[in-house]
Amino acid sequence: MNITVLKFGGTSMNDHQTWRKVLEIIRNYEYPVVVVSATARTTRQLIEAGKSAASGDLEQALEIVETIKNRHRELVEHFLDENPHQKKRLIKESCFKKIDEKVGFLKKMLQYAAKKNDLNPALQDSIAAVGEQVSSYLLAQCGLATNQLTQHIEAKKLIKTDAEYGVANPNRALINQKCGSIETVLDSGFTPIIGGFYGEAPDGTTTTLGFEGSDYTASLIGGAIHAQAIEIWTDVSGIYTSDPRFIEDAQPIDELSYFDATEMAYFGAKVLHPATLKPAQERNIPVFVKNMFKADEAGTRIGRESASTKDFLAISFKENMALVTVSAYETVMGYSFLTKVFAALEKLRLPVDAVNTTEASVTIALQANEKLSELSQALIEVGTVHIDGSKGLISLIGCKLQAMDQLSEKVFKALGDNAVDMITFTKEKRILSVVVNENQTVYASRLLHRSVFA
Ligand code: ADP
Ligand code: ASP
Ligand code: MG
Repeated sequence: MNITVLKFGGTSMNDHQTWRKVLEIIRNYEYPVVVVSATARTTRQLIEAGKSAASGDLEQALEIVETIKNRHRELVEHFLDENPHQKKRLIKESCFKKIDEKVGFLKKMLQYAAKKNDLNPALQDSIAAVGEQVSSYLLAQCGLATNQLTQHIEAKKLIKTDAEYGVANPNRALINQKCGSIETVLDSGFTPIIGGFYGEAPDGTTTTLGFEGSDYTASLIGGAIHAQAIEIWTDVSGIYTSDPRFIEDAQPIDELSYFDATEMAYFGAKVLHPATLKPAQERNIPVFVKNMFKADEAGTRIGRESASTKDFLAISFKENMALVTVSAYETVMGYSFLTKVFAALEKLRLPVDAVNTTEASVTIALQANEKLSELSQALIEVGTVHIDGSKGLISLIGCKLQAMDQLSEKVFKALGDNAVDMITFTKEKRILSVVVNENQTVYASRLLHRSVFA
């Protein structure tokens, strides 16, 4: 069985016309398995609704729900008007029933959050997952209207996770076992349509895999069913040398290794969820990133090896970073000082992006978030703490060691010494990272891109 897993993101799921395109694309495959995101904006609005309710503004939260409800109803109506089918009335009824059921459920959760004045992580995940729960069901129904044998499969039956709400860890063994049901659906001639991004904790509650998590769902499923390929369909023609939305000179990359693509994603290329490539790499399944609006273009192929002989591959960047510097109160042994600093990070589950250290001081670049004040409290035990919360991290990915002299010269020439807060390079990972002021991140990335790709 030549199975291809196709994932369509928020922009591909935007309106009735893009839904039509999605359904046309999947027609070309022998055994497609489809993973979809929520419709554009929905996840963000759901989270906003949760926060409004928890802060006491239930009215605002319910207004957001109304917007989401109307958008989905209109989408279905427009789709069925443009793709008339003899079972149109039945399909519409079934879609509206699902929308109403989920809206009712959402309202109950929001009322609960408002009553408690709190949005616990489990509740937040149950709210956030509604976008994918609805979009996947509705798309499967709309498929029937275009005479395609599409069948919705509830993602909670497949994607089993732990209970780390917001960033749940998949239980791979259980997922591999549960995904057997996908092959049964394919065997009976149907195309499974599955919501990305969410799964189920051991106690049956809903969990989410983190932002952009639908990519991860696609690769977890692809790995589980030994797909011949995983295709991530989005709004750009593959992975570029930098984010094409901000860096005008960015160019699409034909081929990348799993390793380099993962590093790009981890260091800010939001085109892929950073964990996406792991399940694919384990089974050597190629991953393609393709443009939904230019389906004929090849896009990027990600596999074990890449043919690239370039001195460096790409520039990723992240804003909303913080630089935390801790200086030991007295010259303690370096390892004891560092152990204490990293123990504090571990306790708060704060991943680190770059580190510079001397025996008695350490500077850490990490994503800024609400845990920083707690971190500061914990680190005061170890030394004096200075936190600067408005930084950006620019990373040159896939740097060849022999090109480092040239590259670092170009970095300093392009940015000037004053603009750089920290610079790190690791031979193993072939990444040169630079920390700059947050408001300079995009501009500096542009300058760097122009300079290193000239
Ligand atoms: P989807 O809704 O399909 O998941 P995303 O918005 O998550 O789409 O990802 C696609 C976007 O990722 C592009 O529009 C682009 O702005 C951004 N992006 C960031 N870095 C890169 C990169 N290096 N190459 C391509 N796209 C990138
Ligand atoms: N809808 C979720 C998000 O906006 C997951 C995804 O699209 O991959 O992050
Ligand atoms: Mg995405």
